Amino acid sequence: MIIDFHTHAFPDHIAERAIAALEAGCNVKTRHKGTISSLLASMDDAGIDISVICSIATKPLQFDPILAWSKQITSKRIIPFPSLHPADPDPAEKVKIIHEEGFKGIKLHPYYQEFSIDEERMFPVYEACERHRLLLVCHTGFDIAFPRDRIADPEKIEYIASRFPGLLFVSTHLGGWYDWDEVEKHLTGKPRYMEISFSLEELPGTRAKELITRHPPGYLLFGTDSPWTDQTRAVKLLKALHLEPETEENIFYRNAAQLLGLEQELPV
Ligand SMILES: [Zn+2]
Repeated sequence: MIIDFHTHAFPDHIAERAIAALEAGCNVKTRHKGTISSLLASMDDAGIDISVICSIATKPLQFDPILAWSKQITSKRIIPFPSLHPADPDPAEKVKIIHEEGFKGIKLHPYYQEFSIDEERMFPVYEACERHRLLLVCHTGFDIAFPRDRIADPEKIEYIASRFPGLLFVSTHLGGWYDWDEVEKHLTGKPRYMEISFSLEELPGTRAKELITRHPPGYLLFGTDSPWTDQTRAVKLLKALHLEPETEENIFYRNAAQLLGLEQELPV
């Protein structure tokens, strides 16, 4: 079984436009069309059972349409994480609504949403996630489409983790994209959830393996950032690290299943 904790998709009628705009912003080509059906086809090719879809509200007004679409696409194989915008007049209330609608988590992105993760303005959001036991998947590290400002780096993640000890914060890209020395300094070895997307493609295998094996095995999650990487290749890259079978299982699905409350679906 494989659970991909970090994917993206868009409603059919805007996928083409959204992907074109995003591709222009980062000079990377997507690996599929960015619709639910193209994601499902990619999952079938890669042997991925379940994908978490991380939506990002780039303005406060996108809260309602993202929430409505997220409800519509929820299925056994698709687990959407809606989003709210930090400039929302009452972002903590939006967290509550997302929880009440039955979602397991939310996604935030400091670069696309113009915030720094240690900003006090964000604290009510973290408190609300903590209160409702809602997972917070937050883009961390640098971002390919933006200048390298330190708004989502490992030191700040650690600050938030110590300030909100009950917050289920999941960092992306093996702790912080292209900031892996800082990840090692501040996060590696601590009980901090991280998914591994877009890291095995960029790091030498030995370095990736070092960062993974030094981290508590219960805190690593498989992710791809599809359609920005190829899910089949990402699965192969993780297998190619030849981790202990139990660690590999933890990363591919056990930890994710536990966080998502899907233990009953696990193979024996
Ligand atoms: Zn992403």
